[in-house]
Order: sequence, then structure tokens, then C-alpha cells
Amino acid sequence: MALPVLAHDPPEWSEPVKPFRIAGNVYYVGTQGLAAYLIKSNEGAILLDATLAENAGQIERNIESLGVPLREVKLLLSDHAHADHVGAMAQLKRDTGARFLASEGDRWALENGRNEGDNNYGVMPFDRIQVDEVIRDGQQVSLGDVTLTAHLTPGHTRGCTSWSMTVDDRGTPRQVLFLCSITEAGNTLVGNQAYPGIADDYRATFAKLAAMRADIVLTSHPEMADVLERAGKRDAGEVDAFVEPGLLSTLVADFKVAFEDALKEQEAAKQH
Ligand code: ZN
Repeated sequence: MALPVLAHDPPEWSEPVKPFRIAGNVYYVGTQGLAAYLIKSNEGAILLDATLAENAGQIERNIESLGVPLREVKLLLSDHAHADHVGAMAQLKRDTGARFLASEGDRWALENGRNEGDNNYGVMPFDRIQVDEVIRDGQQVSLGDVTLTAHLTPGHTRGCTSWSMTVDDRGTPRQVLFLCSITEAGNTLVGNQAYPGIADDYRATFAKLAAMRADIVLTSHPEMADVLERAGKRDAGEVDAFVEPGLLSTLVADFKVAFEDALKEQEAAKQH
């Protein structure tokens, strides 16, 4: 079923970007406003996130332009079950024939094609995606010579999953973290009927992420980690533009403050 394009989607969410290498075997195949990451291995490739349904053809051409035929994409992953990140996943799954792995927490949303939990943006539908295998916290997922580790970081969605891996960045091993969204994003934080533990999950996720380290942080909304801006700087000669070991703790601290503010506001609104 073709879904209507939401009138309020920012145009940059579908604006094309020439695919580029970030570091080692990690490539950017998303749009100006929504990230999709391709990780090449010696036995095919992994796609992390697919962006909006209407972008499916664009993402597929981006993958092919990096010399990877669609049938060589063997694994599909997502950071979380929202339409702006998995809208095109059903088509990518059909066209690649790849297996789709996801957390138990996001499974219902993915297989029912809509966000789960009360959200003041309402229901944001997308094409249903069959989950072929459920991944657990700390589970390693391998394809050829690439291994990713799943870190469940729920809150933004019930099954929000951050992924980490080590890349060989011109001879230097770097820890890459694909950070699941930690924004409030319209979520009902007080009295959420469909996701009662949401506020506790956010807090546990902030604590968990604060204890992690990453040399390179990559986000599903690229501007959150200045992904495209860093690519520009790197191309202009700043070779380590993607490397910023302090970025993860800065992002976690900033979004924790934003979350606590939003929670206080929602609690105050509830009193009236
Ligand atoms: Zn989201």
C-alpha cells in the first residue's frame, strides 16, 4: 500500500546527497535530512536505516552507486521503528531479499507498520516489515568480517537500538556508535498508556550511554552529529573531522536536560 506523504515532512528529508565514505567500510547512503548507513563486508553489505518510503529508489541507487548490487545487501537493521527511518525498509527488503533484524521492543511497531505508544504527533504509519530475527541487548551480529553489537537504548521507542562496531580508519581502529534517537519527539512521558515505563526507560538509557565511549558518533538525523558538515570539512582537508570522542557525552548531557524539562512541563500540564 502506498502511504500518503505527510504534508509537514521537511523537504531536506528527501533531498539527494551523493553517497560518501565516512570511515573504513562505513558509507553514507541517506538524504540531506535522514541518514542511511551502508557497511561493506567481504560477504556482502549491511544497511542500517532506510529513511522515508518515498526515498526507497534513491537509497537503492545510492547503494548501487557504491558498487554494491542490491542482492549483495544481506542484512537490514534499523535504529528505531519510526516512519522517517524505516518507511522505505519494506521495499528495501523486497528488492534486496535481505534478512531484517530488530529488537523485541520494536517488533510490534515494525510488523504493524505504525509507531507504538502515545505520541502527540499521532499515528505515523509505514509499510509493515516482517522481523526475521529478534536481537537481544549486547548481541553481536556478524556478516563476513564485520561485527556489530546491539545496545538497547529504549525511550524514544520501546525498542530503540544503538549499534556499535570498530572500523579501521586508515590504520587506526575507531569505535563507531550508531546512536538511536534520544529526543523526546512528541512522546507522551506522563501517563503513556501504551508505554507506561517510558520515562524510566529514557533515564536508564541516558545512564547507559553516558558510560559508553565512541570515537565517531553517527545519528539517524544527520544534523544531530553534524554528519554532512563533517564530510565537508574532511573533504576540505581536515582528515579526522568525523572523530570526536567527547561528542557522545555532550549529546547525552544535552538531551537529558531537554528530556527532564519536557517531563516537568508534561507533569505540570497534568496538574491543571
Ligand atoms: Zn523517531
